[in-house]
Amino acid sequence: MLSLHLQGGFGEKGRTSLGVDDGRTRIVLDAGIKVGAAGDEYYPLPLLPPDRVDALLISHAHEDHVGALCRLLARGYRGPVFMTAQTRAEMFATLAQYADADELRRFPPPDGSIELFLPGDTLAIGSLSVATGASGHVAGGVWFAVSAGESRVVYAADMVPASRVFDMAMPPACDVLALDASYGTDPVTAATRAAEIAAWVASHAGGCLMPTPLSGRSLELMAVLDRPFAIAEGMRAPLAAQIEPGVLRPGMADLLRARLATAIDWQVGAPFPAMPLLVHDGMGVAGPARPALEAAVAAGLPILLSGHLPARSPGARLAAEGRADWIRMPTHPTLDENVALWQALGRPMALGHSCDAETLAELGRFIPALQTGARTGHTIEIGKEDRRAHSHRQ
Ligand SMILES: [Zn+2]
Repeated sequence: MLSLHLQGGFGEKGRTSLGVDDGRTRIVLDAGIKVGAAGDEYYPLPLLPPDRVDALLISHAHEDHVGALCRLLARGYRGPVFMTAQTRAEMFATLAQYADADELRRFPPPDGSIELFLPGDTLAIGSLSVATGASGHVAGGVWFAVSAGESRVVYAADMVPASRVFDMAMPPACDVLALDASYGTDPVTAATRAAEIAAWVASHAGGCLMPTPLSGRSLELMAVLDRPFAIAEGMRAPLAAQIEPGVLRPGMADLLRARLATAIDWQVGAPFPAMPLLVHDGMGVAGPARPALEAAVAAGLPILLSGHLPARSPGARLAAEGRADWIRMPTHPTLDENVALWQALGRPMALGHSCDAETLAELGRFIPALQTGARTGHTIEIGKEDRRAHSHRQ
């Protein structure tokens, strides 16, 4: 029997964390923070007490999946932390911006306890077997498939089935699928969105600001930008590190490397270049994007936002005020992609993470097995004899 502990990200966007145990081994998949939340709501719930967890596995280095790592360490977690090399390389920049500064100083990720793996590896952790595979979301991003006996749960983490840039591997069939519901029922394909963004950029080619997270979406945008562009200070090395032939679709590494080589460097405080400018992060919460957005508004420079905008973030405010445009560059599954994934994995019971309750309810109209009432704080048991799972509040 497997128990799933919904520690964060269910019925909400942010602080994604899923605990899994079979009564003998306890693991936690991801430990994110919730941008815009305060106090305890910023962190996942400790349904599995950190000092009793056997292993922590991180899917990728975005703040809503790794930002609470130091919090777990501060609360007594002492086990191994499994991640890919790309995630480890990007994690420190994320923690510097989103972890509590005091906790990061006192409880930094201990080098000796980080266990690196490759997408596609299967990890043996106590009585559990954890298969991994490329999720298509960022370089080195993975999904996890946790098996105990005959029960299996697939945690999609953040997933992009139709990325133009990143490869995705198909997870195995399972009893429970925790899918990436970030986009709810949005049906618009990545190809259509990319064409919309290309058209927007073409009509603002003389200068515009494009906030974007350092990993994942930046490469998707670079694949769209078939004209000269500039990047903010601090972006070049992390972008170069993501351009690896092994994790990108055929031909993409050469294309992106060539585009990065010709990109102009820009620093906060310098005049805006007469071309599209990529700045991180994507929300205006941290990094050069924060001052760059203020300067762009003051200068009347066109702004294109292209991803999730947490409530009260500078990006959300500018979009609401009509001072910035917004076209989604898909870095999560569209409706058709989630339905196809659920069908390919055997139409299992499904959970949706990274969206609010209303969006989850809408998605449930297309995926009948979706548990639209599953919320952060719930524990779900997958019985061996009775494959219909039971949910109860803790
Ligand atoms: Zn992500």
